[in-house]
Amino acid sequence: MESKIWLSSPHMSGREQNYVQNAFETNWIAPLGPHVNGFEEDIQNYLNDNNLVAALSSGTAALHLALILLNVKQGDEVICQSKTFSASANPIVYQGATPVFVDSEAETWNMSPELLEHAIQDRIKKGKKPKAIVAVHLYGMPYKVEEIHSIANAYNIPIIEDSAESLGSSYKNKKCGTFGDIAILSFNGNKIITTSGGGALITKNPEWKNRAVFLATQARENAVEYHHKSIGYNYRLSNVLAGIGRGQMEVLNDRVLARRKVYKSYTQHLEDINEITFLDEPEGFYSNRWLSCILTPSETIREGLRLKLLEHNIESRPLWKPMHQQPVFSAAPCYLNGVSDDLFKKGLCLPSGSNLTENELNRVISAIKAYFRA
Ligand SMILES: *Cc1c(COP(=O)(O)O)cnc(C)c1O
Repeated sequence: MESKIWLSSPHMSGREQNYVQNAFETNWIAPLGPHVNGFEEDIQNYLNDNNLVAALSSGTAALHLALILLNVKQGDEVICQSKTFSASANPIVYQGATPVFVDSEAETWNMSPELLEHAIQDRIKKGKKPKAIVAVHLYGMPYKVEEIHSIANAYNIPIIEDSAESLGSSYKNKKCGTFGDIAILSFNGNKIITTSGGGALITKNPEWKNRAVFLATQARENAVEYHHKSIGYNYRLSNVLAGIGRGQMEVLNDRVLARRKVYKSYTQHLEDINEITFLDEPEGFYSNRWLSCILTPSETIREGLRLKLLEHNIESRPLWKPMHQQPVFSAAPCYLNGVSDDLFKKGLCLPSGSNLTENELNRVISAIKAYFRA
């Protein structure tokens, strides 16, 4: 059997171990310490623009705290992009609120501005104004930032920008993770840079940053005896893992360029295959190409290709199954136009790691060519 080719595997640079070793030498083996603060500063310096960062145990934890900061409570409604990973939606339910799913447009595969506005108007008409909007830059492609934010502003609804897949992407030269009232990042093992598990909450509001850190550290009031006035969470990032993050931040730009190069190779080598189409960057959009995705003519062809790749020990995966199709969310209101259903049927994510070797990339490309030419 040929060696396994993964969709997106961790890519350490070697720099991480210096930071981790330092954590061991200084015995900062705790969910606080100099690397946690250093990692936050690294991300702040990268994003610039007065953004403040709270390093957390996961992107999901960051989304949960974002909803709490925006005062989302039992019985509230929160609009969420339907085409996404379930972690975008689950924290809405942690708060006892109801997700309202909105479908995508075909140019970025992210939330449709028209449908967003329609959903807001319809929810207001039905008696409840949505408390927040979770918009996602899927696979690293920014959503239509200006359109989505101008609608949210017009109705005065805050946006949580789920940037878990899009660190390193930008829209009109402004980095993803800087647009939302609150934004989140993920450093899970499959993301463009990783701490094995980890996440971050981003805000320009210093009170929100402090409140996020406070809630993430069990809401301990400033008193020697453990005094509590709010329900807290254990959501802070470990100093050891933050050390990995510091090493990864040093190579983030390389990782983005490497992923973009993988995407470019696919487009160049597969351009003769008429059955395959790609998601181009619209003018002003810059994607980190976290995952290289293709569209095939049908679900049957997509599934055939996936199984053919598997025969060659190559991992690939259908695009995210929309949340409105998930049994767990079957009762949630949704506003649909067919786009995300169609993408789910026809789309496939290909191996996209920044550590893919040329030989591995050639194996994937050859297997795809063989499938379509056979
Ligand atoms: C990975 C991911 C998350 C969750 O991040 P974790 O760090 O795994 O909790 C949230 N949203 C999207 C779109 C993701 O891809």
